[in-house]
Amino acid sequence: MNSELVIYNTLNRKKEKFEPINPPFVGMYVCGPTVYGDAHLGHARPAITFDVLFRYLQFLDYKVRYVRNITDVGHLENDADEGEDKIAKKARLDKVEPMEIVQKYVNAFHKNMEQLNTLPPSIEPHASAHIIEQSDMVKQIIKNGFAYEVNGSVYFDVEKYAKTNNYGKLSGRVLEDLQSNTRALDGQSEKKNSFDFALWKKASPEHIMRWDSEWSEGFPGWHLECSVMSTKYLGEQFDIHGGGLDLQFPHHECEIAQSKAATGIDAVKYWMHNNLITIDGQKMSKSLGNFIKLDELFVGDHKALERAYSPQITKFFILQAHYRNPLDFSNAALQASEKGLDRMFKAYDTLQNLKSSVTSTFNVNELKEKCFAALNDDLNTPGLISHLFDGVKFINSVKDGKATISETDLDELKKLYNDVLFDILGLKLEEKSSAENSILPKVVDLLLNLRLEAKKNKDFATSDKIRNELTEMGVVVKDTKDGFEWSVE
Ligand code: ZN
Repeated sequence: MNSELVIYNTLNRKKEKFEPINPPFVGMYVCGPTVYGDAHLGHARPAITFDVLFRYLQFLDYKVRYVRNITDVGHLENDADEGEDKIAKKARLDKVEPMEIVQKYVNAFHKNMEQLNTLPPSIEPHASAHIIEQSDMVKQIIKNGFAYEVNGSVYFDVEKYAKTNNYGKLSGRVLEDLQSNTRALDGQSEKKNSFDFALWKKASPEHIMRWDSEWSEGFPGWHLECSVMSTKYLGEQFDIHGGGLDLQFPHHECEIAQSKAATGIDAVKYWMHNNLITIDGQKMSKSLGNFIKLDELFVGDHKALERAYSPQITKFFILQAHYRNPLDFSNAALQASEKGLDRMFKAYDTLQNLKSSVTSTFNVNELKEKCFAALNDDLNTPGLISHLFDGVKFINSVKDGKATISETDLDELKKLYNDVLFDILGLKLEEKSSAENSILPKVVDLLLNLRLEAKKNKDFATSDKIRNELTEMGVVVKDTKDGFEWSVE
């Protein structure tokens, strides 16, 4: 358990040794999806990043409680305070109940997460099932003097909070700047300051999702649910809070303020943020229409896609970048990941059938140490993968008779690849359909037999054509004295 894991704490802007508050227990909260549409590439990155963390902490024998919420109330178009509820809007357009929209997209999200082979969280609480707890926290914040009611809505008093607390400590925002940036927009607002945020909003007559409260019939502010559900399931203080960089401000900054205002203590020890995915160098955004849904990615149905990329290729692509670095999606990058993953899995297969010798010509222990040093260094998955590729070279040279491995080292190496590839990174061997598996090799054999016949008949044009086109597809053909051998590049 005394691991060397170091993680970058966004709160303190530095890497820190991971020391849980109450070992061996670890509480981990990650902001989950708002369920009014299909999951896209942007959802895959936090899901995969925090899945690796969840898996690795368990690998280190910590008892982890991983909570990831489902946002199914009060998430308005313009952050927390203005505009129409996105779920209600979708329900109105589709002429269904809002909760049908919620269920449909929760199901779809779970399917995508399973395709990516991420583990389900320990608890997946819905905001709509925690209205009472949310209203209780609002009461507590009012009682502590950090919120005020206007016309049935309750707002967090940021200015008052900032007098005794550091509002902006996570995002580095300065209150004076927020003030000057937003003052111009004021006027009709019922808030004291434009940067105040809603804890409870009175529902407009057309608003469908609404609950009774002592202030009005309305719905909770977006930020509130995470403070409430993390406290409920992980306690007033817990170890890790994660999410995408886009949530750092205002969402996480507001969570910090709410929790502190309610309980008087800082809730989170380590804040972790994954960076975002861009598409061909551009930010994913509604206006650019460049959101790629995971379902589209997996079947190749989007104008930006040259073809389909499987869930495991997508996952390997994401793992090949450090989670705190930006990651640019392109067809070329995905295709490179596909080749890489294929090479890795082929070597894994080879490893299972290697023959041991008396001695090793490679230091397996050193490889293992390097792999875990990379993981311990703030989940440096690209570093880890590059060490695994060093191992791949060795595995292939043992196969080719150019290197040797002892029996103990062989067992160690098999364990290392099993642990890291499957248990920690959570990769999965993807089965091609059994029809594909059984028919395709026969088709290649058939073509190569036709080529042999053509050669016998001195029809070199046909024989070359078959060989060249197969080569183009990545089939490596080798002539032997008995006929031919082939393999896929
Ligand atoms: Zn959240």
